[in-house]
Amino acid sequence: MHTSAAGNDTIRKDWDTYFMDIAYMVSTRSRCPRRHVGAVLVQGKKLLGTAYNGAPMGVHDCLEAGCMIAEEIEVKVVEGIEQVIRKQRCIRTIHAEQNLLLFTDRANREGSTVYVTDQPCWTCANMLANSGVAEVVYHRAYPKDSEKVYALMEQKGIVFRQIGTYFAPEQARMDVIS
Ligand SMILES: [Zn+2]
Ligand SMILES: [Zn+2]
Repeated sequence: MHTSAAGNDTIRKDWDTYFMDIAYMVSTRSRCPRRHVGAVLVQGKKLLGTAYNGAPMGVHDCLEAGCMIAEEIEVKVVEGIEQVIRKQRCIRTIHAEQNLLLFTDRANREGSTVYVTDQPCWTCANMLANSGVAEVVYHRAYPKDSEKVYALMEQKGIVFRQIGTYFAPEQARMDVIS
């Protein structure tokens, strides 16, 4: 039987789990009741930044002023048939990925990995593509614009992947209104 020096390798968290757990704990700071998103910047296994979705500092947030709902329309072609999909989302908050970019330095981002609880939306993906980040790891899928986001990341040569078998920390789970 294999035993390691530490003796507890089997229960030790792998790096993906470790950083995704941190992203989830960060997401609990969010005050948008529709969605709690957390993102962390990791460079060589070192944590260099954390961020969550929220209103700009010093202005009313979603719990104080309510969510700011905007309706968006997406045209999707499914098996040759055009479908119009209507979606509501809260536009009061700056997304976690965008806040992460606002609060980290470009030099620290070169070649880094971003762990984010939710698959980035198109705007965030577009910004991440220009941010120096080399890898993006997410947990919960976000189907809107997903194909476009994957195509963009591939074109940019950014590793873009959903974390494998993973269970978010109990205290950070919430029901997402999509
Ligand atoms: Zn909101
Ligand atoms: Zn976004």
